[in-house]
Formats: sequence, C-alpha cells, structure tokens
Amino acid sequence: MFYIGCHLSSSAGFLAMGETALSIGATTFQFFTRNPRGSKAKTIDPDDASALLSLQAANGIGTLVAHAPYTINPCSRDERTREFARQTMTDDLQRMEYLPGNLYNFHPGSHTGQGVEAGIAQIAETLNSILTEDQHTTVLLETMAGKGTEIGGRFEELREILDRITLCHKMGVCLDTCHVSDAGYDIAGDLDGVLTRFDKVIGLTRLKALHLNDSLNPVGAHKDRHARIGEGYLGQEAFGRIINHPALRDLPFVLETPNELSGYAAEIAMLKEMRR
Ligand code: FE
Ligand code: FE
Ligand code: ZN
Repeated sequence: MFYIGCHLSSSAGFLAMGETALSIGATTFQFFTRNPRGSKAKTIDPDDASALLSLQAANGIGTLVAHAPYTINPCSRDERTREFARQTMTDDLQRMEYLPGNLYNFHPGSHTGQGVEAGIAQIAETLNSILTEDQHTTVLLETMAGKGTEIGGRFEELREILDRITLCHKMGVCLDTCHVSDAGYDIAGDLDGVLTRFDKVIGLTRLKALHLNDSLNPVGAHKDRHARIGEGYLGQEAFGRIINHPALRDLPFVLETPNELSGYAAEIAMLKEMRR
C-alpha cells in the first residue's frame, strides 16, 4: 500500500478531514492538533474522533500524523515558554488518545542562545516529563533545516535526544525532505548515502514518517522554504527515488507543499503515477 497524503486543515473536524483526504485520493494525512500559531484547542468530540477511526479502517487510510503547533519551544531559554510547551504537549497527547495508534510530530525547538547541549537536555527533560507507558501515540522528532538556533538539523542531535529518553519505545523520527536538504544532507543527489548516514546515527527503525517537500533553496542553505514537488532544488526525480526506496516505501508520506486542495490532489496523482 502507498500511504500518501497532505497536510489538511482541521477546522471542520476529524471526520471531515478523512472525507477530504479520500476526495483528493489521499491514503493518509496530517493535521495540526490546534491553531499552529495560537494555543487554543477545541474540545474533542469523541463521536467525531471515532467516526474518523471507522472511516480510516473502512477505507484503508494509513497511520495519521498529528503536528504540534509551531509556537511551542521545549528548549527556550525562558522557563515559562518551556512550561507552555510541556502543557501543550501533555494536553495534545491526552487528546490523541481519542485517535489511538497514530503519530504526533513536533519540532524539537530552538535553543535561543543557550547552546545545543543545554537545548538537547531540555527537550529530553520535557519528553521525559510527558511520555507515559500507557499512551497509544508515537511521538516524532522532526528533522529540521538548522535555521537560526534550531536543534535537529544534524542527525546526531536527534540521536542525543533519543538517547536520553526513558520511554524511548514511544519515540520516533519524521524526516522532512526539504529540511534535511537545507540542513546539508544531499537527499536529492545521494539518497542512499543520506539513508546510510541516518541508519548509522539514528537507526532506520526509528523512522516513522516522511514530509515530502521540495526546497526553494540549495543543499545546506538552512532556510526552510518549501516548494511544490518538482519546482525546487530537489527536483521531481528525487521524489520518485524517495517514494520507491525499499527502506521508505511503506511509511506514510505527507506533502506540506504550498498548495490549495486541488494542487495537493494533482501532486498526489503525480506521485501515484511515479510509484512502482
Ligand atoms: Fe513541521
Ligand atoms: Fe515538515
Ligand atoms: Zn518546514
């Protein structure tokens, strides 16, 4: 099965997202757990959540990816900001229990001048304080572009975070193709080399999802500006290699390209065409 989808707006509810996904040919999708730039979360309607679970099972929709808001920063130098991240993530994970068995992805954060080591320690501390043995969600660290003081631009940093987590079996990694390229890994030119490196440093068994984005900037630019598939520096052929790679092909692929729904439908159709 080819699990391909895109980021969808969650404003109309869970079942509506599932129906939208099916209408554009998607077999998975991603959504924000709350307003990406605010903190307010709607109360969960359990019936709406279980309706999505039924739709997911009936239509062979794969594992879903929930995305934490951009506003959280578990490794800010400001303790109140770190506390806000803890509270938001704790609340999100409780809400995710209405959709058991799916993924919750977040940006590790920016150390805001404290240094990488201090930032890594704080991210791990946050995760250790929120993960529970009985949760049914796998939490993913996203690979980052290494913009500013962002942590997670180097695979070693993600490995260091994972090494410090007590409930490490509740954790995984989401690889964003734009971000890793911007971070300096030539995923378009040397996919096998990048995956070998990922496997050595983090372990491919930790990889649970991918974000498919082309990049407006060349390898190593540390910019994080997404482009439509084939309209950036990675190029369409690179995505053919990625979606068909034996180590990746069974994972959920989520588009976060600058598109309206019709653009996503076209990209999903194109990628299905390229699938072998
Ligand atoms: Fe992200
Ligand atoms: Fe991403
Ligand atoms: Zn990005």
